[in-house]
Amino acid sequence: MNAEIISVGTELLMGQILNTNARYISGRLADFGINLYYHTTVGDNHDRLKECIRTGFSRSDILIFTGGLGPTEDDLTKETIADYFGLELEINSECKAELIERMTSRGYQCTPNNFKQVMFPREHCIILPNPNGSAPGCIIEMNGNAAIMMPGPPWEMEPMFEASVVPYLQKLSSCRFYSRTLRIFGRGESQVEHDIQNIVDAQTNPTIAPYAKAAETTLRITARCADEEEGDRLIIPVMDAIYQRVGEHVYSSRGLDMHEVCAELLAKNGYKLAVAESCTGGMIASRLISVPGSSAWFVEGAVTYSIESKMNRLGVKAETLEEHTDVSAETAKEMAEGIRITSGADIGISTTGYAGPTGAPNQIGHVFVGLSTAESTESYEFHIKGDRERVRASTTLNALNLLRKLILSKGMYKPDKYMI
Ligand code: AMP
Ligand code: MG
Repeated sequence: MNAEIISVGTELLMGQILNTNARYISGRLADFGINLYYHTTVGDNHDRLKECIRTGFSRSDILIFTGGLGPTEDDLTKETIADYFGLELEINSECKAELIERMTSRGYQCTPNNFKQVMFPREHCIILPNPNGSAPGCIIEMNGNAAIMMPGPPWEMEPMFEASVVPYLQKLSSCRFYSRTLRIFGRGESQVEHDIQNIVDAQTNPTIAPYAKAAETTLRITARCADEEEGDRLIIPVMDAIYQRVGEHVYSSRGLDMHEVCAELLAKNGYKLAVAESCTGGMIASRLISVPGSSAWFVEGAVTYSIESKMNRLGVKAETLEEHTDVSAETAKEMAEGIRITSGADIGISTTGYAGPTGAPNQIGHVFVGLSTAESTESYEFHIKGDRERVRASTTLNALNLLRKLILSKGMYKPDKYMI
């Protein structure tokens, strides 16, 4: 089965919006073994969109559209596709009632153009609920072809895709796909690929798909199977083989982000954490606090950017700063210890470094991370390549990784490697 993604929206062509929907859907189609050979992006224009539909169906069985389901004049995806199939749109009374309920409960009144969103063909059409927005999606099936339509906003499209489109595609492809994701940090993508190449080559079910994210590598292992149990039976031996090669660098086998792993370890061990950040400017705190329930273990985050703040808030000594400067192992240690003691946390973590772009080239990316517990305080030195954003993001990941290792070595809670 071949599918094709058609992203609709003039804003995409103008470079105002990055086409993250196409990336998301592409990644998921690969999991389901559906061939994807084309991405098309087209503006909000009836004739050009219709041309894309014609071309799309000349080479693909399924066209997946995002965008253009809204209430305004320029939203014309559904209208154009119905026109292509020769179908009339009419108001669906159930969807209309839901829309009115949704609008009035939020204190809005429906205007006539809102009802455009609840118009669908009477036949050949499956309506896809949208719990996160006012425009439902739909699938029109005709002549062995399917046009799947979802709204543009990613926070509406992604849940709709998972809840409604995935089961639809799985039924079409007549088997289930189940995947597990290994997250790897501290070894580059090409190194990881090299380490596991013969495992990848030997596999047909499950398959292994490596891809790189900023400073880390992800391995998605996907099994064609009857159910999750069979999926794990196929996947676990492959994960074991991968672990033998790169196990020390794997931080999650459930696809968790680094900060989610840290959050789970902090919560399960009952440790409290405080953060003193200089070059990361609150990134570490922000990641950790994005995890629900973080109030149970996150005590305080301080952005101590200036030298005065490092001295006044954290008690970094003037002599230390004079002798070693603010970007040094000694300062990182005093920052971590300072935030831990003054906040009453069990663990203090700190960052200080040169994020660039100003500064001597050999200084840019020179970073220290401090980690402090009641037993000891350590510092770790890094030389990170890249622009300011990259240095800050990579420092954040490195700091969280050190935190993770510290808790794993010190904590009572010892998770099974495939459970975190
Ligand atoms: P629409 O459903 O066409 O009204 O789109 C509404 C909004 O969704 C747009 O303004 C964008 O912010 C977002 N959006 C639309 N298409 C995409 C896409 N392909 N990727 C990411 N965001 C998108
Ligand atoms: Mg639009």
